[in-house]
Amino acid sequence: MSHTDAPSVYRADADGFFGEFGGAELPPFLAGPIAEVAVAYDAASQDPGFQEQFQSLLAKYVGRPSLLYFAENLSRELGGAKVYLKREDLNHTGAHKVNHCLGEALLAKRMGKTRLIAETGAGQHGVALATAAALVGLECEIHMGAIDVAKQHPNVVRMELLGAKVVPVEEGGRSLKEAVDSAFAVYASAPEEYFFAIGSVVGPHPYPSMVRDFQSVVGREARAQILETEGRLPDALVAAVGGGSNALGLFDAFLEDESVRIVGVEPAGEGLEGDRHAATMTLGTPGTLHGMRTKVLQGEGGEPSPVHSIASGLDYPGVGPQHAQLEQLGRVEYLSVTDAETLDAFQTLSRVEGIIPALESSHAIAQVMKLAPELPADAVVIANLSGRGDKDVDFVAERLREA
Ligand SMILES: *Cc1c(COP(=O)(O)O)cnc(C)c1O
Repeated sequence: MSHTDAPSVYRADADGFFGEFGGAELPPFLAGPIAEVAVAYDAASQDPGFQEQFQSLLAKYVGRPSLLYFAENLSRELGGAKVYLKREDLNHTGAHKVNHCLGEALLAKRMGKTRLIAETGAGQHGVALATAAALVGLECEIHMGAIDVAKQHPNVVRMELLGAKVVPVEEGGRSLKEAVDSAFAVYASAPEEYFFAIGSVVGPHPYPSMVRDFQSVVGREARAQILETEGRLPDALVAAVGGGSNALGLFDAFLEDESVRIVGVEPAGEGLEGDRHAATMTLGTPGTLHGMRTKVLQGEGGEPSPVHSIASGLDYPGVGPQHAQLEQLGRVEYLSVTDAETLDAFQTLSRVEGIIPALESSHAIAQVMKLAPELPADAVVIANLSGRGDKDVDFVAERLREA
């Protein structure tokens, strides 16, 4: 921690910039409503009453603190470091997303809004948000490309059971991109009623900072837990990066600890040579996407590239702006693993630990499987197990049958 009042390099400036990345590049019809969210979040983040309410839901509803589990069998199998797993898969709803969805729902309520609105791709964000809306007592409207509605039927059923309205978007490619536009259009038509709930550390200021803050409980817990069990800080942290919220959630509490190596893991998909990947940090270039300046996988004209990952929660052509800065500062390394390595990690963790990880989280496990054998036996690694893999078993079974 800093001994001066100088602002930390790991916090956005007043305009929401992390160095050259971040900000809020918005059309005029969205600038006003989003600025209102920034002002409201600034006040809430300094209000002990709001923080208490949030912490109380995390404890009593989500089931926090989540375990920091020593994966002894995996550690032995890899023959290197001691591997610990931060068990976000044990949260209510089975993943980390519920942490920030509850935070956003509480803020919406505090602002006097009556409805949450968002887009969803595979449906994970929609389900987590619908859960938070049901608990906090808000209406919830989820826009989803018509193709995704058909593909992700179980998540549509879940959202509807939770009381949310699912809006199938029939425009254009009928996928995530059109769902984003559709949700923003409805939001802009009645910002006094709606709160736009973004699903990761992406989008315009204040979302990258706000979602990070709501997720930072993960790293604060992990830091206290490892100090308790090992009596020292870990040597390395590893987390999967899609938009980057579970990763920043784990990393944030350790950023000032220079002895801790920090690794973000991106989807190399079918390989970095072709275009079937979503390795934004590795191969992206500075650009503007969804209201933020960040690294983007983009074509010649600046249009976002089509992306691919075996984990639908990681296939995003952008990344949270703080990650772009953390790379530039040399504080976090960004590596990537392929779909095949991910499938192998999914099966390995299931078999040796009896824990079925989400395909997203399996990216972090795959990186640990490469990293741990290179480290001394007393080294300590913490990987973020961002979610459970029940949602992925049918898909994986099919992939393995084809192989
Ligand atoms: C959505 C999701 C991710 C990816 O999102 P981030 O914002 O990069 O964390 C990772 N893991 C799980 C289990 C998810 O559901």
